Amino acid sequence: MHKMRALIFGAPGSGKGTYSARLQDRLGVDVISMGDIFRNMMQENSILGRIIKRYVEAGLLVPDPIVIEVLADRLANMPKEKSFVLDGFPRTIAQAEVLEKITPIDVVIELAVPDWIIIERLSSRRICKNCGAAYNLRFMKPEVEGVCDRCGGTLYQRSDDNPAVIKMRLELYASETSPLLRFYETTKVPLIKHTTDQLEMPPEKVVDYIEQELKKLNLF
Ligand SMILES: [Zn+2]
Repeated sequence: MHKMRALIFGAPGSGKGTYSARLQDRLGVDVISMGDIFRNMMQENSILGRIIKRYVEAGLLVPDPIVIEVLADRLANMPKEKSFVLDGFPRTIAQAEVLEKITPIDVVIELAVPDWIIIERLSSRRICKNCGAAYNLRFMKPEVEGVCDRCGGTLYQRSDDNPAVIKMRLELYASETSPLLRFYETTKVPLIKHTTDQLEMPPEKVVDYIEQELKKLNLF
């Protein structure tokens, strides 16, 4: 039996990746990110990876039966006592209902970040072309303007990191996520909600809070 089975929800720019990585370091949980799994499968160029690539490149969602097969396989191949945090799944009620048949869920973690903070953060974000490291011109500047500290690569701004596109991504996230949060409320899965109220929220504080709430629920 997995010790803790958690879902994590957070808008693009909410810091979800950063917090999940820290939970992984601190608590030894496995972070299962559907996005990462798909990227790896596409790189490995397996049959399923090539099918997934066709959908992704056409800008389409990967169909549920494929997503579910991949996830069920991933869960079946990890140690049964290992805790996990699932990121990027479910995205729909239909997926949530299928997930119930694969594994029970003990807790939902929601990272609530006001839109203005996300817009500030993402519009000043810069990414290294070479290694993918992320910087922020407001509070995580590179030492030399436009150059990656780690590898010397060129920094660029993602084309979808502009306020108009960010607003659309946030609306999509909200319309996807609110029905899911209601679903887990009606199925009585406990919710840990962290609300960020400052632009430069120290990640450690958020992770401390989540850890403390997990302890209250006897999950750690
Ligand atoms: Zn770099």
